[in-house]
Amino acid sequence: KDIRIRCCTSSSCQASNSLVAVERLQETVKARGMEGRVEVQSVGCMGFCGRGPLVAIDPANILYERVTAEDAPSIVDALAGGEATAAQGDLEHPFFARQMRIVLEHNGKIDPMRVESYIAVGGYQQLYHTLHEMTPQDVINEITRSGLRGRGGGGYPTGLKWATVAKMPSEQKFVVCNADEGDPGAFMDRSVLESDPHRVLEGMAIAGYAIGANQGYIYVRAEYPIAIQRLQKGIQQAKRLGLLGSQIFDSPFDFRIDIRLGAGAFVCGEETALIASVEGGRGTPRPRPPYPAESGLWGNPTLINNVETFANITPIIRHGADWFADIGVDKSKGTKVFALTGKIKNTGLIEVPMGTPVRQIVEDMGGGVPDGGTIKAIQTGGPSGGCIPGDALDTPVSYESLVALGTMMGSGGMIAIDDATNMVDVAHFYMEFCRDESCGKCIPCRAGTVQMHQLLTKILKKQATLKDLENLEAICYMVKDTSLCGLGMSAPNPILSTLRYFREDYLKLLLNSS
Ligand code: SF4
Repeated sequence: KDIRIRCCTSSSCQASNSLVAVERLQETVKARGMEGRVEVQSVGCMGFCGRGPLVAIDPANILYERVTAEDAPSIVDALAGGEATAAQGDLEHPFFARQMRIVLEHNGKIDPMRVESYIAVGGYQQLYHTLHEMTPQDVINEITRSGLRGRGGGGYPTGLKWATVAKMPSEQKFVVCNADEGDPGAFMDRSVLESDPHRVLEGMAIAGYAIGANQGYIYVRAEYPIAIQRLQKGIQQAKRLGLLGSQIFDSPFDFRIDIRLGAGAFVCGEETALIASVEGGRGTPRPRPPYPAESGLWGNPTLINNVETFANITPIIRHGADWFADIGVDKSKGTKVFALTGKIKNTGLIEVPMGTPVRQIVEDMGGGVPDGGTIKAIQTGGPSGGCIPGDALDTPVSYESLVALGTMMGSGGMIAIDDATNMVDVAHFYMEFCRDESCGKCIPCRAGTVQMHQLLTKILKKQATLKDLENLEAICYMVKDTSLCGLGMSAPNPILSTLRYFREDYLKLLLNSS
């Protein structure tokens, strides 16, 4: 067809009634007798979520924002010279223009409910290529040379992880996709799964071939119904076409993928808790070693990567390790997807090369704080992370640079905080989250998060003394050093980070502070 009307039907646009707008667009195209020439296509997230529902017109390269069902007839009539009532967006806006889309390359462009749509853009070709032209060791070498690191937060070298599982002498191995995205303000994985589910399935199948596994699991939180529905459909379609299952592409390789739903516990994003949950047990962490790569699901070697890591696999195989390694800086290669939110004009999902200055992301692409305010800090890494102070916005984003600032990349939440915000409030918010999400298995985290939250509350009520602040800091270090898993070890980070850069916000709330 000559003209394509692409409509976002991912979570954020659906929350603004995009499905009704799609229906009206389809009805209008039919009523005007334009079906032979115009296709109305449901697609995934285009990224500018704060301005949804979004509708794009190809090949005219037009974007409409905040589209309602009432706008639909005028959008169709505009194809024949009329005028659309919906606000016209700008595809050249820095929000789009400054991006480098590798993981999100098909987001908002293909129909996530149709495998044919993915195949039409080269989908499953890299799986065919690996099965017929590469050995498992070739695949591991390529991923290792690319410099890809785990995008779930830890930044562990992906190739090294794959090689470790591949070397384990076991008949039974597993691949697990960690889609238990739980950080406040983070929706990168949800968007990829809703927009391009086959990309993740293909990445998992390639991983299975490389490490010698024939079974994969996607552990996805039950609060993501649209992602789950699209994954279920995707798995069915791939099975029907022989892209998953037995003897894929007439090779000896078998690979199946099943979905396991998480019940909303943040701690189940931790690998050992995730394993316990997939096995049907209570999702609590256990001490490591043994690491899941050695002894994971039912005691078998298990490769766990997150959604964005698997979504990077097919482009690396397609373009080669050197191409990927040329993007980014130092030991941080490729791109990173961020969910850009908070006190900022342009919110949504972006993907930028590693090394992009934070200022470019939040001021240029994000448009800065509305109404002339200034950025006080940028929170990254969610409840495990910390903040980048406003005077460090020229820092290039990388795993190393963020750690040097006392925060971390995390899975990709990036929240802008303006100068009207007291940072004790920010620390209090994250501590409340960690207190609620602590699984209670070990005492330092179970009791420490409660005590840290109580002390922060006392400070906010202006009832605390300098001694309370000293106690708070001492508890932070105790919890960090003695907790069993990453949740507890990193729970004090938002406090320590805000104390490092914004101690005066605490001091001015103390008794006798004047
Ligand atoms: Fe559970 Fe917290 Fe201990 Fe982790 S650190 S095992 S979340 S109590």
